Amino acid sequence: MMARPEKFIDESGRRVDGRLPNELRPIKMQVGLLKNANGSALVEYGLTKVIAAIYGPRESQKSVSLPDRASLRVRYHMAPFSTEERKNPVPTRREIELSKVLRESLEPIVMTNYFPRTTIDVFVEVLQSDGGTRTVAATAASLALADAGIPIKALFGGVAVGKVDGVLVVDINEVEDMYGDADMPIVAAPDLNLVTLYQLNGVLSKDEFQEAFDIAMNAITGIVNMEKETLKSSYQVENKEGDLEK
Ligand code: ADP
Repeated sequence: MMARPEKFIDESGRRVDGRLPNELRPIKMQVGLLKNANGSALVEYGLTKVIAAIYGPRESQKSVSLPDRASLRVRYHMAPFSTEERKNPVPTRREIELSKVLRESLEPIVMTNYFPRTTIDVFVEVLQSDGGTRTVAATAASLALADAGIPIKALFGGVAVGKVDGVLVVDINEVEDMYGDADMPIVAAPDLNLVTLYQLNGVLSKDEFQEAFDIAMNAITGIVNMEKETLKSSYQVENKEGDLEK
Protein backbone atom coordinates (compact mmCIF):
# COMPACT_ATOMS: atom_id res chain seq x y z
CA MET A 1 0.00 0.00 0.00
CA MET A 2 1.09 3.56 -0.68
CA ALA A 3 2.72 5.38 2.22
CA ARG A 4 1.26 8.58 3.62
CA PRO A 5 3.37 11.51 2.40
CA GLU A 6 4.77 13.71 5.15
CA LYS A 7 3.37 16.81 3.49
CA PHE A 8 0.76 17.11 0.76
CA ILE A 9 1.74 20.65 -0.20
CA ASP A 10 5.43 21.63 -0.30
CA GLU A 11 7.04 25.04 0.35
CA SER A 12 6.44 26.15 -3.25
CA GLY A 13 2.74 25.27 -2.98
CA ARG A 14 3.01 22.14 -5.13
CA ARG A 15 1.28 18.83 -4.57
CA VAL A 16 2.86 15.34 -4.28
CA ASP A 17 2.81 14.96 -8.08
CA GLY A 18 4.06 18.51 -8.72
CA ARG A 19 0.69 20.04 -9.59
CA LEU A 20 -0.67 23.30 -8.23
CA PRO A 21 -3.90 23.08 -6.20
CA ASN A 22 -6.05 24.22 -9.16
CA GLU A 23 -4.29 22.07 -11.75
CA LEU A 24 -5.91 19.01 -13.34
CA ARG A 25 -3.88 15.96 -14.25
CA PRO A 26 -3.00 15.74 -17.97
CA ILE A 27 -6.21 14.57 -19.68
CA LYS A 28 -6.41 12.40 -22.81
CA MET A 29 -9.56 11.38 -24.66
CA GLN A 30 -10.17 9.05 -27.58
CA VAL A 31 -13.47 7.85 -29.09
CA GLY A 32 -14.52 4.99 -31.34
CA LEU A 33 -11.57 2.76 -30.54
CA LEU A 34 -13.56 -0.49 -30.26
CA LYS A 35 -14.86 -2.04 -33.46
CA ASN A 36 -17.51 -4.31 -31.93
CA ALA A 37 -19.19 -1.87 -29.52
CA ASN A 38 -21.78 0.65 -30.72
CA GLY A 39 -19.78 3.41 -29.11
CA SER A 40 -16.59 3.61 -27.06
CA ALA A 41 -14.19 6.00 -25.39
CA LEU A 42 -10.89 5.83 -23.56
CA VAL A 43 -10.26 8.61 -21.05
CA GLU A 44 -7.14 9.22 -18.98
CA TYR A 45 -6.68 11.67 -16.11
CA GLY A 46 -3.00 11.21 -15.37
CA LEU A 47 -2.43 7.57 -14.47
CA THR A 48 -6.14 6.73 -14.15
CA LYS A 49 -7.32 5.10 -17.38
CA VAL A 50 -10.89 4.06 -18.02
CA ILE A 51 -12.60 2.64 -21.08
CA ALA A 52 -16.36 2.87 -21.62
CA ALA A 53 -18.23 0.84 -24.23
CA ILE A 54 -21.87 1.00 -25.25
CA TYR A 55 -24.04 -1.84 -26.49
CA GLY A 56 -27.46 -0.89 -27.67
CA PRO A 57 -30.11 0.18 -27.86
CA ARG A 58 -31.22 -3.38 -28.63
CA GLU A 59 -34.48 -5.17 -27.97
CA SER A 60 -34.89 -5.94 -24.26
CA GLN A 61 -35.45 -9.35 -22.78
CA LYS A 62 -39.07 -9.46 -21.61
CA SER A 63 -38.15 -9.35 -17.92
CA VAL A 64 -36.43 -5.95 -18.18
CA SER A 65 -38.52 -4.44 -21.00
CA LEU A 66 -40.03 -1.02 -20.19
CA PRO A 67 -43.00 0.15 -22.30
CA ASP A 68 -42.09 3.86 -22.34
CA ARG A 69 -38.29 3.99 -22.37
CA ALA A 70 -35.04 2.07 -22.66
CA SER A 71 -33.62 0.37 -19.61
CA LEU A 72 -30.20 1.72 -18.89
CA ARG A 73 -27.69 -0.67 -17.37
CA VAL A 74 -24.21 0.21 -16.14
CA ARG A 75 -21.46 -2.16 -15.16
CA TYR A 76 -18.42 -0.59 -13.48
CA HIS A 77 -15.55 -3.03 -13.21
CA MET A 78 -11.89 -2.80 -12.25
CA ALA A 79 -9.59 -4.98 -14.33
CA PRO A 80 -7.46 -7.38 -12.22
CA PHE A 81 -4.33 -5.54 -13.45
CA SER A 82 -5.67 -2.04 -12.70
CA THR A 83 -4.54 -1.86 -9.07
CA GLU A 84 -1.19 -2.22 -7.33
CA GLU A 85 -2.08 -5.70 -6.09
CA ARG A 86 -4.01 -7.98 -8.43
CA LYS A 87 -7.67 -7.31 -7.88
CA ASN A 88 -9.98 -10.30 -7.73
CA PRO A 89 -11.98 -10.10 -10.97
CA VAL A 90 -15.24 -10.95 -9.16
CA PRO A 91 -17.27 -7.71 -8.72
CA THR A 92 -16.92 -6.38 -5.20
CA ARG A 93 -19.64 -4.58 -3.23
CA ARG A 94 -17.86 -1.31 -4.09
CA GLU A 95 -18.09 -2.07 -7.81
CA ILE A 96 -21.77 -3.02 -7.54
CA GLU A 97 -22.51 0.21 -5.68
CA LEU A 98 -20.49 2.30 -8.13
CA SER A 99 -22.40 0.71 -11.02
CA LYS A 100 -25.61 1.94 -9.41
CA VAL A 101 -24.24 5.39 -8.62
CA LEU A 102 -23.02 5.79 -12.21
CA ARG A 103 -26.33 4.57 -13.65
CA GLU A 104 -28.14 7.17 -11.55
CA SER A 105 -25.75 9.84 -12.84
CA LEU A 106 -26.60 8.94 -16.47
CA GLU A 107 -30.36 8.49 -16.14
CA PRO A 108 -31.34 12.20 -16.10
CA ILE A 109 -29.24 12.87 -19.22
CA VAL A 110 -29.77 9.91 -21.57
CA MET A 111 -32.99 10.31 -23.60
CA THR A 112 -34.21 6.79 -22.93
CA ASN A 113 -37.77 7.72 -23.96
CA TYR A 114 -36.63 7.55 -27.61
CA PHE A 115 -36.09 3.81 -27.37
CA PRO A 116 -38.93 2.01 -25.55
CA ARG A 117 -38.57 -1.74 -24.90
CA THR A 118 -34.83 -1.67 -25.52
CA THR A 119 -31.73 -2.00 -23.35
CA ILE A 120 -28.72 0.29 -23.41
CA ASP A 121 -25.66 -1.24 -21.75
CA VAL A 122 -22.79 0.91 -20.56
CA PHE A 123 -19.69 -1.09 -19.70
CA VAL A 124 -17.01 0.70 -17.72
CA GLU A 125 -13.66 -1.02 -17.39
CA VAL A 126 -11.00 0.57 -15.22
CA LEU A 127 -7.68 -0.30 -16.89
CA GLN A 128 -5.45 1.53 -14.43
CA SER A 129 -6.52 3.18 -11.21
CA ASP A 130 -4.89 6.11 -9.44
CA GLY A 131 -7.91 7.77 -7.85
CA GLY A 132 -11.03 9.33 -9.31
CA THR A 133 -12.14 6.32 -11.33
CA ARG A 134 -15.86 7.08 -10.95
CA THR A 135 -15.45 10.60 -12.31
CA VAL A 136 -13.22 9.47 -15.19
CA ALA A 137 -15.82 6.75 -15.86
CA ALA A 138 -18.55 9.41 -16.17
CA THR A 139 -16.48 11.40 -18.68
CA ALA A 140 -15.79 8.23 -20.67
CA ALA A 141 -19.49 7.28 -20.59
CA SER A 142 -20.48 10.71 -21.91
CA LEU A 143 -18.11 10.36 -24.87
CA ALA A 144 -19.03 6.73 -25.54
CA LEU A 145 -22.78 7.54 -25.56
CA ALA A 146 -22.16 10.39 -28.00
CA ASP A 147 -19.95 8.11 -30.12
CA ALA A 148 -22.78 5.53 -30.15
CA GLY A 149 -25.15 8.20 -31.46
CA ILE A 150 -27.47 7.83 -28.48
CA PRO A 151 -29.32 11.12 -27.87
CA ILE A 152 -28.25 12.77 -24.64
CA LYS A 153 -29.49 16.13 -23.37
CA ALA A 154 -25.92 17.40 -23.04
CA LEU A 155 -22.39 16.16 -22.64
CA PHE A 156 -21.32 15.62 -19.04
CA GLY A 157 -18.13 14.94 -17.15
CA GLY A 158 -16.72 14.34 -13.71
CA VAL A 159 -14.00 15.46 -11.36
CA ALA A 160 -13.20 15.03 -7.67
CA VAL A 161 -12.11 17.93 -5.48
CA GLY A 162 -10.30 17.12 -2.26
CA LYS A 163 -8.79 18.80 0.76
CA VAL A 164 -5.19 18.13 1.80
CA ASP A 165 -3.19 20.01 4.45
CA GLY A 166 -6.18 22.36 4.69
CA VAL A 167 -5.98 23.28 0.97
CA LEU A 168 -8.67 22.53 -1.62
CA VAL A 169 -7.16 20.65 -4.57
CA VAL A 170 -8.79 19.67 -7.85
CA ASP A 171 -8.73 16.20 -9.47
CA ILE A 172 -7.22 14.29 -6.56
CA ASN A 173 -5.08 11.24 -7.15
CA GLU A 174 -5.12 8.04 -5.12
CA VAL A 175 -2.72 9.12 -2.38
CA GLU A 176 -4.56 12.44 -1.90
CA ASP A 177 -7.83 10.52 -1.79
CA MET A 178 -6.55 7.89 0.62
CA TYR A 179 -4.90 10.17 3.18
CA GLY A 180 -6.52 13.54 2.53
CA ASP A 181 -9.23 15.17 4.66
CA ALA A 182 -12.01 15.21 2.08
CA ASP A 183 -12.98 13.70 -1.29
CA MET A 184 -15.87 15.27 -3.18
CA PRO A 185 -16.61 13.62 -6.55
CA ILE A 186 -19.06 15.44 -8.83
CA VAL A 187 -20.57 14.58 -12.21
CA ALA A 188 -22.35 17.39 -14.03
CA ALA A 189 -23.64 18.62 -17.38
CA PRO A 190 -22.58 22.29 -17.37
CA ASP A 191 -24.74 23.17 -20.40
CA LEU A 192 -27.82 22.09 -18.41
CA ASN A 193 -26.54 23.50 -15.15
CA LEU A 194 -27.25 20.01 -13.79
CA VAL A 195 -25.36 17.95 -11.20
CA THR A 196 -26.14 14.22 -11.44
CA LEU A 197 -23.64 12.78 -8.97
CA TYR A 198 -22.56 14.39 -5.76
CA GLN A 199 -20.71 12.59 -2.99
CA LEU A 200 -18.66 13.83 -0.08
CA ASN A 201 -16.34 11.68 1.95
CA GLY A 202 -14.95 13.77 4.82
CA VAL A 203 -15.91 17.15 6.21
CA LEU A 204 -15.94 20.60 4.57
CA SER A 205 -17.12 23.88 6.09
CA LYS A 206 -19.93 25.72 4.31
CA ASP A 207 -17.46 28.15 2.69
CA GLU A 208 -15.10 25.35 1.70
CA PHE A 209 -18.00 23.47 0.18
CA GLN A 210 -19.00 26.49 -1.93
CA GLU A 211 -15.43 27.00 -3.09
CA ALA A 212 -14.90 23.29 -3.80
CA PHE A 213 -18.15 23.17 -5.75
CA ASP A 214 -17.13 26.16 -7.91
CA ILE A 215 -13.70 24.58 -8.52
CA ALA A 216 -15.38 21.34 -9.62
CA MET A 217 -17.87 23.04 -11.95
CA ASN A 218 -15.09 25.08 -13.58
CA ALA A 219 -13.02 21.95 -14.10
CA ILE A 220 -16.00 20.02 -15.53
CA THR A 221 -16.76 22.86 -17.95
CA GLY A 222 -13.19 22.55 -19.27
CA ILE A 223 -13.45 18.76 -19.46
CA VAL A 224 -16.74 18.95 -21.41
CA ASN A 225 -15.14 21.44 -23.82
CA MET A 226 -12.39 18.86 -24.40
CA GLU A 227 -15.08 16.25 -25.07
CA LYS A 228 -16.61 18.52 -27.72
CA GLU A 229 -13.22 18.97 -29.41
CA THR A 230 -12.56 15.21 -29.29
CA LEU A 231 -15.92 14.43 -30.91
CA LYS A 232 -15.50 17.14 -33.54
CA SER A 233 -12.09 15.83 -34.60
CA SER A 234 -13.40 12.24 -34.72
CA TYR A 235 -16.05 13.37 -37.24
CA GLN A 236 -13.45 15.21 -39.29
CA VAL A 237 -11.40 12.02 -39.60
CA GLU A 238 -14.52 10.10 -40.66
CA ASN A 239 -15.24 12.71 -43.31
CA LYS A 240 -11.74 12.54 -44.67
CA GLU A 241 -11.84 8.77 -44.95
CA GLY A 242 -15.41 8.61 -46.25
CA ASP A 243 -16.49 9.14 -49.82
CA LEU A 244 -17.70 12.67 -49.35
CA GLU A 245 -15.44 14.10 -52.06
CA LYS A 246 -17.50 12.40 -54.75
P1 ADP B 1 -12.62 6.57 -7.02
O1 ADP B 1 -11.77 5.69 -7.89
O2 ADP B 1 -13.84 7.05 -7.73
O3 ADP B 1 -11.82 7.70 -6.39
P2 ADP B 1 -12.63 5.37 -4.38
O4 ADP B 1 -12.58 6.66 -3.64
O5 ADP B 1 -13.49 4.26 -3.85
O6 ADP B 1 -13.17 5.64 -5.87
O7 ADP B 1 -11.19 4.78 -4.60
C1 ADP B 1 -10.06 5.60 -4.64
C2 ADP B 1 -8.91 4.86 -5.27
O8 ADP B 1 -8.51 3.77 -4.45
C3 ADP B 1 -9.23 4.22 -6.63
O9 ADP B 1 -9.20 5.10 -7.71
C4 ADP B 1 -8.15 3.19 -6.71
O10 ADP B 1 -6.94 3.78 -7.18
C5 ADP B 1 -8.00 2.73 -5.27
N1 ADP B 1 -8.78 1.50 -5.07
C6 ADP B 1 -10.10 1.38 -4.95
N2 ADP B 1 -10.48 0.09 -4.81
C7 ADP B 1 -9.35 -0.63 -4.85
C8 ADP B 1 -9.02 -2.02 -4.74
N3 ADP B 1 -9.95 -2.94 -4.58
N4 ADP B 1 -7.72 -2.36 -4.81
C9 ADP B 1 -6.76 -1.43 -4.95
N5 ADP B 1 -6.99 -0.12 -5.06
C10 ADP B 1 -8.25 0.29 -5.01
